[in-house]
Amino acid sequence: MNKRTFIKLFAATVASPSVMRMLAWAGQERLKNWAGNLEYNTDRLHTSISLEQVQDYVKKESKLKVLGTRHCFNNIADSKDGFLSLKPMDKVVAIDTAKRTVTIGAGITYGQLCPYLDGKGFALHNLASLPHISIAGACSTATHGSGQKNGNLATAASALEIVTADGKVVNLSRERDDETFNGAVVGLGALGVITKVTLDIQPSFRMRQYVYENLPLSELKDHFDAIESSGYSVSLFTDWQKQRINEVWIKSRVEEGEAFHATPEFFGAKLATRNLHPVVALSAENCTEQMGVPGPWYERLPHFRMGFTPSAGKELQSEYFVPRQHAVEAILAMERMRDQVSPSLLISEIRTIAADNLWMSPCYKQDCVAIHFTWKPDWPAVSKLLPVIEKELAPFNARPHWGKLFTILPAELHRIYKKMPDFVELSKGYDPQGKFRNEYLNKNIFSI
Ligand SMILES: Cc1cc2nc3c(=O)[nH]c(=O)nc-3n(C[C@H](O)[C@H](O)[C@H](O)COP(=O)(O)OP(=O)(O)OC[C@H]3O[C@@H](n4cnc5c(N)ncnc54)[C@H](O)[C@@H]3O)c2cc1C
Repeated sequence: MNKRTFIKLFAATVASPSVMRMLAWAGQERLKNWAGNLEYNTDRLHTSISLEQVQDYVKKESKLKVLGTRHCFNNIADSKDGFLSLKPMDKVVAIDTAKRTVTIGAGITYGQLCPYLDGKGFALHNLASLPHISIAGACSTATHGSGQKNGNLATAASALEIVTADGKVVNLSRERDDETFNGAVVGLGALGVITKVTLDIQPSFRMRQYVYENLPLSELKDHFDAIESSGYSVSLFTDWQKQRINEVWIKSRVEEGEAFHATPEFFGAKLATRNLHPVVALSAENCTEQMGVPGPWYERLPHFRMGFTPSAGKELQSEYFVPRQHAVEAILAMERMRDQVSPSLLISEIRTIAADNLWMSPCYKQDCVAIHFTWKPDWPAVSKLLPVIEKELAPFNARPHWGKLFTILPAELHRIYKKMPDFVELSKGYDPQGKFRNEYLNKNIFSI
């Protein structure tokens, strides 16, 4: 199902908010995730436009999953029974300029929220590589950007409104509910339907983005900390070939003391003289402005522009989080696999993320480096590579991105997530019969 058909489907369900069989309408196309690598196990899609409708639907159904913007690569969002979409609940509910918070309906995307916030003189602390994703879905999977002082996107959440399995509304806040809140924010869709999220905001800021080409791996090895701390958010793109990082993207705030002063050379890399795509062969038209042109935070923090296809389009993705102190060792371990990964790889990205207190975050209580793989859409080949990569990264207790492809076994996930037993208890409290559980959750979270 392409994006236009999906939008039309949503429009149709808003007009008639009843459960619909979509197949006939959509010309026999099945409902798929954004990348098209996963055909969902049902095309039964219900849309709610209010909290009361969500409550009624949840009470009525014995099994359901909330579908966000479908940007996960694995079956975390899949359902055999039925989907609930909150797409029309995409309004800003309140902005509290004194407390510096914004409360949003859970159907909104970063792409919708950010220009609004900027217009009011405010900003979020960070963004992922793309603005197209829903805020509720991103927070539920611990989606992140980069920056050694920047926590993942879920760390901005300060309150949640959730409809639990019995249809009741639970309000949780960081201030009041402390550990329960820390357990609920990266909820993997297991606790209930998030209907509202409150996010911390800060005064709006402007940024510049510079890209350098061909950073020698030896420089990265010796100066990893200096390179990563050169900007507010730094991303390294590599195909692991020729002992080099192909592109270094440095995003810095323009304020005095924060600005990055671009020199023609940076640790042996050369300043790019044109905008680049992370996959150098692809057009940079889809990418945010580079070459030091100042612009608003929400048009520099993501790599990809709203209204354009992010990344490559037809692709698979995997990503592993390694404690920051093992960053260089883990990167070198991946570099040694260059000949194995290269035939299946489009590009890798290396980012840093600050530690947080969210139970199911891969960065729980530890600063991390995330090593990401954008793969060609060849699952038979990629599925053979993932266990090999995971074996190499196992000595560092690598944690997989919850929304990307991985083969790490449930027992290992339980070993490396110390708060897993507490999360299981918390979920069972809100959803005793497993109304919101699917194959992914049953296997990875509830099987042990
Ligand atoms: C091109 C591309 C680039 C990406 N870049 C990044 C990146 O830079 N950094 C990164 O970390 N990730 C990245 N991702 C992954 C992506 O951010 C995550 O997979 C994110 O979860 C997508 O949000 P979604 O709304 O599309 O989620 P969906 O796939 O729709 O849902 C994800 C999970 O959230 C749950 N959920 C969604 N909404 C609700 C709700 N209202 N209440 C309860 N549960 C809910 C779903 O049930 C499911 O369990 C990228 C993905 C793509 C396709």
